[in-house]
Amino acid sequence: MAFPKAANNDGKWNDNPTVLKIHILPVWYRTWWATLLFVIAGIGSAYFILRYFWTQKMMKAQIEMERVDKERQKEVNEMKLRFFINISHELRTPLTLILAPLQDLLMKVNGRWEHKQLELIKQNTNRLLHLVNQLMDYRRAELGVFHLRVRRMPVHEVVEKNFRFYERIAQRKQIKYDFYSDVEGKEILCDPEYVELIENNLLSNAFKYTGEGKSISVNLKVENGWLLLQVADTGTGIPAGKQDKIFERFYQGTDEHFGSGIGLSLVQRLVELHHGRIELTSREGEGSTFTIYLPTDPDAYMPEERAECNVVADEDIHTTNQQEMYTVDIEDTSLVDDASESGLETFSGQQRDENILIVEDNADIRQYLAEELEKTYRVCQAENGEKALDLLQEQEVDLILTDVMMPVMDGLQLCKRVKQNLNTCHIPVIILSAKADIKEQLEGLQVGADDYIPKPFSLNVVAVKIRNLFRTRRRVIERYAKSMEIEPEKVALNPMDEKLLKQAMDIMEKHMDDSDFTTDEFAREMFMSRSNLHLKMKALTGESTNEFIRKMRFNKACKLLKEGKYTISEISAMVGFSTPAYFSTSFKKYVGCLPSEYGK
Ligand code: ADP
Repeated sequence: MAFPKAANNDGKWNDNPTVLKIHILPVWYRTWWATLLFVIAGIGSAYFILRYFWTQKMMKAQIEMERVDKERQKEVNEMKLRFFINISHELRTPLTLILAPLQDLLMKVNGRWEHKQLELIKQNTNRLLHLVNQLMDYRRAELGVFHLRVRRMPVHEVVEKNFRFYERIAQRKQIKYDFYSDVEGKEILCDPEYVELIENNLLSNAFKYTGEGKSISVNLKVENGWLLLQVADTGTGIPAGKQDKIFERFYQGTDEHFGSGIGLSLVQRLVELHHGRIELTSREGEGSTFTIYLPTDPDAYMPEERAECNVVADEDIHTTNQQEMYTVDIEDTSLVDDASESGLETFSGQQRDENILIVEDNADIRQYLAEELEKTYRVCQAENGEKALDLLQEQEVDLILTDVMMPVMDGLQLCKRVKQNLNTCHIPVIILSAKADIKEQLEGLQVGADDYIPKPFSLNVVAVKIRNLFRTRRRVIERYAKSMEIEPEKVALNPMDEKLLKQAMDIMEKHMDDSDFTTDEFAREMFMSRSNLHLKMKALTGESTNEFIRKMRFNKACKLLKEGKYTISEISAMVGFSTPAYFSTSFKKYVGCLPSEYGK
């Protein structure tokens, strides 16, 4: 090793230099351990970064998977529901065809045992129908077919009417059943159809889950701008863990009761659509209280949800068997001695010559109706609206009984066409339909239908409605026959017929003194064929055109006689009689006394 030497000023070199050993240490990051650390840190962070991205990706994939899964689940649920609803539709017809003849049998069977068995069949068929209806209501709510139409109306009456429907079951089950309301006589903004459906579902549940000797109450009030509808029971109650699940679709808390798990989800959907909310307080073993809050402030609703509609119309066409559907679900299967039903009547008794046209695409139902109606009336059949219109041109029909949903031409269209045609507008139309929706019922009545029967129908209801329509018609005709006066507004069934009668009277007035005025001329002036005029006159007044002419002439004669200004021979000429003698004998035959006596 060479060390640096130093020399002094004399040039003498130092032989023994001082040695200073300097050892330079590497900077920390150059040390081996730092390098090792760096390598480990590098590998570590690479691992964590990779892991981060990896989990991110995995999470995303999972979320996506869950989304797809949920969608698939939803689709499956939708499919399930659609399937149920399609099946429900299919079930309605056979169920109708079980119920209707059953009703007949029940009325004819005398034996107590047989009666009991039939009652059992009826109750269970009704239960199935209840399910079918619930499913269809639910679907309608989901699809938004229920259009909210709020209006100021006496909600107390609607709620009380529904309340009363369960009184019989309450009595039978010895349940204390009360209704409290502080809105009696008040008009409150709400949609009665919604309120009714909600109340029915809640009451149907309350009776299902409340045993003998317990109590159920309905409470109706207005509080801080909300309409409160409360249904409280002291029944089984709902365990805390299940309370938030019961509003889910198809959820059922217990297997003990017959149900679909749809009722409460339907209620919740309806309440949401009504911009309200639902609250539940319940304790297992002590009972449950469901409270519905519906806003009464008009601003809570969209303009199209507010309707200044006719309340009475709704009342009139109320789906009568809707509550029945709800109550049958909770009836126990013991025999119900229902005396009120035995008073109803079916198609039997004397044969009448009125002709009824049945329009229905389902051959089974059409056949069934025809067979029953034929016991009393003459019957013809058509499988759709178009065929019915063809038939109306060939045959004289006194009443049309039509289904709504039919291929080619539906019942509403048929009704419209019948009512808009002068030749047919006097024929009463009864619409028969599976659509229990009030909207469609209204539609039915707005096209001029004379009555509406929701399916499943009871033959008794059909019988009574037909009989009543004919009876009313007969009464009008009898009154017309007895009276000397012709009052179009009392005789005609619709404005078109009224106009026609007035026109006929004007024409007759014009030709009053024309003894040669014939029915041919009359028909020509009415712009109708002679036979059509004859049919129309017969349908409206029960008399022929000739009789109408005669009635007009004698009516005029009576008025003139009363005035006492003219002689009998003058009057005879004024009302179109060729000779006074002929006038006198005809007058006596028609009025019952001689013209000379009548004046006095
Ligand atoms: P379901 O057709 O089964 O009655 P719902 O949707 O109407 O279907 O009710 C769902 C569940 O909520 C029921 O199965 C029942 O367990 C529970 N539930 C509903 N109402 C009551 C009540 N008033 N008392 C006790 N449990 C009730």
